[in-house]
Amino acid sequence: MKFIADVMVGRLAKYLRMTGNDVMYINDIDDDQLLKIAAAENRIVITRDTLMLERREFKNGSLKSIFIKDDKLVNQLKQIKSELKISLKPNLTRCLVCNGLLSKVEKLDIKGKVPPYVYKTQNNFLFCKKCTKYYWRGTHYENIKNIFHIVNRAND
Ligand SMILES: [Zn+2]
Repeated sequence: MKFIADVMVGRLAKYLRMTGNDVMYINDIDDDQLLKIAAAENRIVITRDTLMLERREFKNGSLKSIFIKDDKLVNQLKQIKSELKISLKPNLTRCLVCNGLLSKVEKLDIKGKVPPYVYKTQNNFLFCKKCTKYYWRGTHYENIKNIFHIVNRAND
């Protein structure tokens, strides 16, 4: 399942990438361009824009959409999870910045490329070839896991 998110759901797009989902997000494209990409790449449109949903592509069923109802991130993730019946678990396989796939890098190879404290305390590093960003499961990752814990809690 691949997605394209409109400008109103940028944060949600980032969190979906954390679960390994392919989510395209370009913050300066117009609706026409967005729909064109969605059609060409078979992406589900994630939007909060009711006007966008009036477009012919959605009316005739040639494009799929998810209309996000809530403005709270946790509820947005819950909606995606229940509507698409997919599990949402953080796995750090995709770049949060550019949606590129991450690959493992040897610790020795990145000496001097990440902050010294990080180098000292972390052992597993990932790299995005597309935008040359490094990733590791630092304290920030704990916060992310907590958010998904709430998302996946039953009856909430
Ligand atoms: Zn990247």
